[in-house]
Amino acid sequence: MPLICVHVKEPALKQAVIDEIRRRDTSAEIEDHENSELNDKAVPTTFWIDTEISFWDVEQIAGVTDAILAHDVCSCGSGERKDELVDARGIFCCYYCDACEKEKRAKYRTEVLEDSDYQCDEQIETDY
Ligand SMILES: [Zn+2]
Repeated sequence: MPLICVHVKEPALKQAVIDEIRRRDTSAEIEDHENSELNDKAVPTTFWIDTEISFWDVEQIAGVTDAILAHDVCSCGSGERKDELVDARGIFCCYYCDACEKEKRAKYRTEVLEDSDYQCDEQIETDY
């Protein structure tokens, strides 16, 4: 079953959304990271669900602002949708989201992200 990350508007709506999903799919498995020691960045408006319901249908349930398939979720633990960080030459660097963008960008030299003429660390040997 596809694993989906669900965002709700307010923490108070979470239980109602979970109840509605369980009503439509009795075999749905809810993983609430709020109670998990694994995820220190757990957000009270976010939970994970393993369900047969498509994520479009999950998005239609009142109170859901966003439903994201697990493979589109950033690995930082925020539960936000990931995006590709590419350098000034268009080379893929890593994935980031709104929550970790600063942190991820800080790992690269500013010129690598902004100047397409940046120097590589590996110089090509030209003299024979
Ligand atoms: Zn992130």
